Amino acid sequence: MWLHEPRVVVTNPVADDPERETERLAEAVEQLRVSVDRMLEGAAMGDAEQLEVLEAYRMFANSKGWMRRMEEDIQRGLSAEAAVEKEQSAARARMSQITDAYLRDRLHDLDDLSNRLLRILTGQGRDTGAEMPAAPILIARNIGPAELLDYGRKLKGIVLEEGSVGSHAAIVARALAIPLIVHAERITTEALNGDAIMLDGDQGIVHLRPDDTVAAAFRDKIAMQAEAQTRYASIRDVPATTLCGTTIGLHMNAGLMADLPSLEGSGAEGVGLFRTELQFLVRNQMPRRSELSALYSRVLDAAQGKRVVFRTLDIGSDKVLPYMKPNDEPNPALGWRAIRVGLDKTGILRMQLQALLRAANGRPLTIMFPFVAEYSEYRAARLEMDKAIERERILGHAIPTRLEVGAMLETPSLAFAPRAFFEEVEFLSIGGNDLKQFFFAADRENERVRRRYDTLNSSFLNFLEGIVRISDATKTALSFCGEDAGRPVEAVCLAAIGFRTLSMRPASVGPVKHMLRRVDLTALREVIDAARREGLETVRPAVMGYLATVS
Ligand code: PEP
Ligand code: MG
Repeated sequence: MWLHEPRVVVTNPVADDPERETERLAEAVEQLRVSVDRMLEGAAMGDAEQLEVLEAYRMFANSKGWMRRMEEDIQRGLSAEAAVEKEQSAARARMSQITDAYLRDRLHDLDDLSNRLLRILTGQGRDTGAEMPAAPILIARNIGPAELLDYGRKLKGIVLEEGSVGSHAAIVARALAIPLIVHAERITTEALNGDAIMLDGDQGIVHLRPDDTVAAAFRDKIAMQAEAQTRYASIRDVPATTLCGTTIGLHMNAGLMADLPSLEGSGAEGVGLFRTELQFLVRNQMPRRSELSALYSRVLDAAQGKRVVFRTLDIGSDKVLPYMKPNDEPNPALGWRAIRVGLDKTGILRMQLQALLRAANGRPLTIMFPFVAEYSEYRAARLEMDKAIERERILGHAIPTRLEVGAMLETPSLAFAPRAFFEEVEFLSIGGNDLKQFFFAADRENERVRRRYDTLNSSFLNFLEGIVRISDATKTALSFCGEDAGRPVEAVCLAAIGFRTLSMRPASVGPVKHMLRRVDLTALREVIDAARREGLETVRPAVMGYLATVS
């Protein structure tokens, strides 16, 4: 275990030579810039996303406002270190008040830079006498993406006292396939360099200085998982066919170029959901059409002809772009987000559609609009698509040989849309994360309520079944791409009520396929129906009872 940068102690808060201090600050900032540039060069061989994160850093390191405030503090008698620390404290104070997760992460980037600057100024490096183990689990209060990139793939895991799952650091950790745990209370005060630590990323559990029983249990679990992995690898190339002979299409969710190699490794048939907003979120300015189209083109190249469902930008709610004016909305999840932004700010939507068409360059293309709440929104978005194609045709660019346009069903209202909508839309994908939060009126980000209602609740299954029924009747292709599709028990129940396509995290494809291959959907359906007839609130206990008989 390795503690990330013990805190820098500033021992000289005041100084009486402002000129000298300003010079020291300028030199340190210059060194900082050089080191960020060096990191950028180092990352140049890596992912485009990593580069973008570092570009955001470069922007901060060159920020005039930041420099000016520190120089003013020096003029008032502070030492260079104290001026940096003051800026850092102000950023931290702002951080604690800001509820917007995205802005908080940006302020954390600044915090990270301030730490680097303080280390340069004080000369207090990482050298605390202890030796970093070869493949450590890193402990930190919080960590910036650039610092994480510095450590690179050698890390076995990361435990943060603060942090958030949507931060840049989390994006980088995921891209590097390093397990990350956030919100581990008091970890930086309790852990010492060299301590033994065990981390279960799936469960979000950390054991500091585990006793022998815990260590033995962990070893057993790791061995069992290794066995399971071998099992999943052995079924990678066979279809997810149930005992009753129904084949379920398993696809994966992605959002970064770095996710694409999993397409091969997981055995997924294609990308059922490509979340395009990540590319917008990790930049500090609106990406250019040419950049986006180059990226989408690389995604299609990497998919080697497998279907990729590109979801147009789903921003708003908790995903605020740094270069768009944030909207102070009382209920952002119910606010100006996703296709609502796209239809109001058609410039962005048009640019993205054009980038997708150029990327396809004649190849088949699949596009899906997020958060469609009513038929007319789908029609308006579809009209934008048709216009974009017409423009490309006039300009002489290649048009996709096959184009599929669909919608995400994430608001209950769309389930009750006129039949004509289901007849018109080419496919539907249920965004279960949003759909469930609106169905139960339970915020998906709120720890107090988010697990309160079971996905296998009879009411929710009845509701989903209604969507399956109308989709079947209108021959509309239907899939489910929320997190629940990647949970084996939930996944087999979705299959039992009629879903034939599921899209999930790449790591879930093996476990879900393994479970599907062991069940008889007709028998499971009877178990679910019997539980509903009995008036049970959730069918889970009955389903678990059935699954226990098939293993
Ligand atoms: C969903 O809502 O289920 C979904 C897949 O979209 P996101 O999680 O990106 O909102
Ligand atoms: Mg959603």
